[in-house]
Amino acid sequence: MKRKVVDFSKFSSIRVGGKRELFIVESIDELSKFKDFRIVGGANNLLVSPSGDLQLIQLSKEFDYINIEDQFISIGGATPNGKIFNFAKQNDISGFEFLQNLPSTLGGMVKMNAGVKEYETFNNLISITTERGYINKIDIDFGYRHTEIDGVIFEAKFQIKKGFSRELVEKFKSMRSNQPKEPSAGSTFKNPQGFSAGKLIEDVGLKGFRVGDMAFSDIHANFLVNLGGGQFSEAISLIQMAEDRVFSKFGVKLEREICIVE
Ligand SMILES: Cc1cc2nc3c(=O)[nH]c(=O)nc-3n(C[C@H](O)[C@H](O)[C@H](O)COP(=O)(O)OP(=O)(O)OC[C@H]3O[C@@H](n4cnc5c(N)ncnc54)[C@H](O)[C@@H]3O)c2cc1C
Repeated sequence: MKRKVVDFSKFSSIRVGGKRELFIVESIDELSKFKDFRIVGGANNLLVSPSGDLQLIQLSKEFDYINIEDQFISIGGATPNGKIFNFAKQNDISGFEFLQNLPSTLGGMVKMNAGVKEYETFNNLISITTERGYINKIDIDFGYRHTEIDGVIFEAKFQIKKGFSRELVEKFKSMRSNQPKEPSAGSTFKNPQGFSAGKLIEDVGLKGFRVGDMAFSDIHANFLVNLGGGQFSEAISLIQMAEDRVFSKFGVKLEREICIVE
């Protein structure tokens, strides 16, 4: 089995972490060799500790593909979102417009039910394939930026609906115009029902607040940004600070969207 050493302070979108060994999985059968592991996609939603006991694995290029079969498309777990977006655009398929500027692989996008507002991955999803076999959408517990999928997603199947919308793409582009430019992992917390996580963070005085080289952005407080050499411990202390302050001031429990990998 192939393995490589990856520097997460370069590989992850938030540019935090250190060097960790990454095992490259080339077939579903190979997964049985691992016990305590975490699957890494494109590391666009991950905050990875520079040291940890979990084995980190990633799907090989074998799982980077898109196949059309009748009314469905099957997409491999390692397929980058840019490829999926372009495929949808070229083949006039709707439902993938929100992938514009949403960095991901197919696996990470399905696991997180990634999306923008009501436009999300599960809308057109039919089924997934994990090491436990083929699983229909109706048998998966999912919601806003959340799924209960506990296996590795090797493939997902989507219904083809015609009509790629350029108007929607433009709408998503303009929605991103106020996003911070510094390295981040996107939203740090999910929006609690009836609240905006960014507004809550702002209301407890943490908008623009900095610990070392990590800060809650002064443009959008729900974005934890790296201002240079940000460290894992600095990011964790800001996350905990926001959770504590928001809970004691508003009684609202912030739920993390960012995935912490120890
Ligand atoms: C600038 C920026 C903007 C963003 N905007 C948005 C947005 O608008 N909407 C949104 O939803 N997200 C957004 N994100 C977050 C991120 O893009 C998504 O969560 C994305 O789906 C993560 O995909 P990934 O492949 O990088 O997964 P990773 O970050 O590597 O992993 C995320 C989770 O998925 C799991 N995972 C990865 N691959 C698999 C697999 N094959 N099988 C099972 N589990 C797997 C990981 O273990 C982890 O729990 C943004 C991030 C950035 C940096």
